[in-house]
Amino acid sequence: MTRIAIVGGGISGLSAAYELEEQRRNSSLALEYVLYESSSQLGGVLRTEHIDGCVVEAGPDSFITEKPWAADLCRELGLGDQLIGSNDADRKTYILVRGRLIEMPDGLMFLVPTKIMPTVLSPLFSWKTKLRMAMELFHPPRAVGHDESVGEFVERHYGSEMVERLGDPLLSGVYGGEAASLSVRAVLPRFAEMERKYGSLGRAMLAARKKMSAGPRRVAPPLFTSLKNGMQHLAETVVSRLTSSSLVTDAPVQAIQREAGGWVVFAGMRSDYFDAVIIALPAAAAAHVLRMASPELAAELAAIEYSSSITVGLGYGPDVRQTLPPGFGFLVPRGEGKRLLAATFVHNKFPHRAPEDRALLRCFFAGVNAENVWPLSDDQIIGIVRSELQQIIGLRAEPLFARVYKWKSAMAQYGVGHLERLERIERLRHQLPGLALASNAYRGIGVPDCVWSGRESAKQLLPR
Ligand SMILES: Cc1cc2nc3c(=O)[nH]c(=O)nc-3n(C[C@H](O)[C@H](O)[C@H](O)COP(=O)(O)OP(=O)(O)OC[C@H]3O[C@@H](n4cnc5c(N)ncnc54)[C@H](O)[C@@H]3O)c2cc1C
Repeated sequence: MTRIAIVGGGISGLSAAYELEEQRRNSSLALEYVLYESSSQLGGVLRTEHIDGCVVEAGPDSFITEKPWAADLCRELGLGDQLIGSNDADRKTYILVRGRLIEMPDGLMFLVPTKIMPTVLSPLFSWKTKLRMAMELFHPPRAVGHDESVGEFVERHYGSEMVERLGDPLLSGVYGGEAASLSVRAVLPRFAEMERKYGSLGRAMLAARKKMSAGPRRVAPPLFTSLKNGMQHLAETVVSRLTSSSLVTDAPVQAIQREAGGWVVFAGMRSDYFDAVIIALPAAAAAHVLRMASPELAAELAAIEYSSSITVGLGYGPDVRQTLPPGFGFLVPRGEGKRLLAATFVHNKFPHRAPEDRALLRCFFAGVNAENVWPLSDDQIIGIVRSELQQIIGLRAEPLFARVYKWKSAMAQYGVGHLERLERIERLRHQLPGLALASNAYRGIGVPDCVWSGRESAKQLLPR
C-alpha cells in the first residue's frame, strides 16, 4: 500500500487529492492518502456567501478562460453546466486619472495598444506616451538578458506614465503587488518572449492577430469563467468526490521529517508515516513545515514574498444599478491617493450573480493599503469603501449589506529572480525523494494554475 500525505486543503491540495482519488479508483494501485487542513473548512481562499439573492465571493471571483485547468476540472466533476462566462459584451474598465474615470481604449491587449484610433483619441495617455507607443513599434529584438521588474520592462517600452496608469494597477489587481518589484519573466513570460523575438510588443501583438485572422474564424471565448453558484462550489464538489475518512480538518501540520525512506508527518499530538508528501501550502507555511527536513529548501521558500488583500462585498437595492457606470469596474492607480485599488460591478461582469433589482459591488484593497486598513474594524473599512465610492462614482446610497473578508499573506509575489529561485527549489526538492510541492507560490497564482500544480504534484509521486 502506497501512502501519500497532502498538507493544505486549499484548491491546490484538493486538486492533488482529487488526482490521487482518481488514480485509486481507476487503477489497480493500492493507494491511500490523508489530507491535513489546519482550519475547520476545506477550500482555502475559495469562499462564497449567498446574501439577499446575490452570490458574494470572498476570495477569487472567477478565473481566466485561457488557462484551461480549472474549467477542465469542473467538467470532470460534472459541473460543466454550472460554468458561466463573463458578460464581455459589456466589458469596459475604467482607470481613475486625476479623480476622473477614463475608459481603457479598445484594442488594448493588457498593456499593448493594437488599434491606432482608439488609442490616439483616448484621454488616458498624454501625447508624450502616445508618441512612445508609436516609437515602440521600432524597438529592435533584444538578446535574453537579466530578469527585471515589470515596471522597468514596461517603462523601457512605453515610459513611466504607462507603468503608473496601467501596468501597476493591472498587476496589483491580479497579484496584489507592485510593478516595481514583480519579475517580468515570471509574471509576463509571454511579453518577455515577444521582446526577444520581435523587439516591439506592438509588432508582436499585430503579428499574432494576423496569424489568428488567417486561421478558421472562431468566436472568442469569454475572458473570465466562473461557476453560477460561486467558486466555493468547485471546492465543495471536489471534496464530495474524495474519501471522507481521508480528510482531516483542524489539523495544522507542524513539521515533516524524513525517516526510513519515507516521511513522518507531525500534526498536533499525532504523527503518521507516509511514503510521500505533497506540501500544498503558501510558501511561508511550507518553509515552516520543512525547516527540519531541509533548512536550505525552507530558506528558499521563506524568501518568496506574499501580500495581503481585503475584499469588500456591497449589495444595493433597486435604482442604484442605473446610477452606476456601465462596464466591469475600475482600477485606481497608486498616485491617485486612494486606498481602494479596484472595484468590480459584479452585476455587469456576471449578471447571474445578482437579481435584476440589485447592484453588487466587489471592492479590493491590496499590498500596503491592505496592511494599512487591516487593524481597522469591519465598520471602519466599510466606511472607507463607501467614502471612496462616493468620491469616485458618486455612490451615496446606503448598502443593503456589506461584508469584509481579510486574507493575510495569501497572494504570492514573484519578485525579480523568481525563476532562478524555482530552479534552486527544484534542485533541493530532488534531494528529498517522495516530496512534491504545489500551491500559488511557484508557477502561477490563479485558480487554474493551482489546480494544475496540485494535479501535477500528485502525478509526480505516483509510480509510472
Ligand atoms: C482575495 C483574493 C482574490 C483572488 N482572486 C482571484 C481570481 O479572481 N482569479 C484567480 O484565478 N485567482 C484569484 N486569486 C488567487 C487564487 O485564489 C489563489 O492563488 C488560490 O486559490 C490559492 O490556493 P492554494 O490552495 O494554493 O492556497 P490557499 O487557498 O491559501 O490554501 C492553503 C490551505 O492550507 C492551509 N494551511 C496553512 N498552513 C497549514 C498547515 N501548517 N497545516 C495544514 N494546513 C495548513 C490553509 O488553512 C489553507 O486552507 C485570489 C486570491 C485572493 C486571496
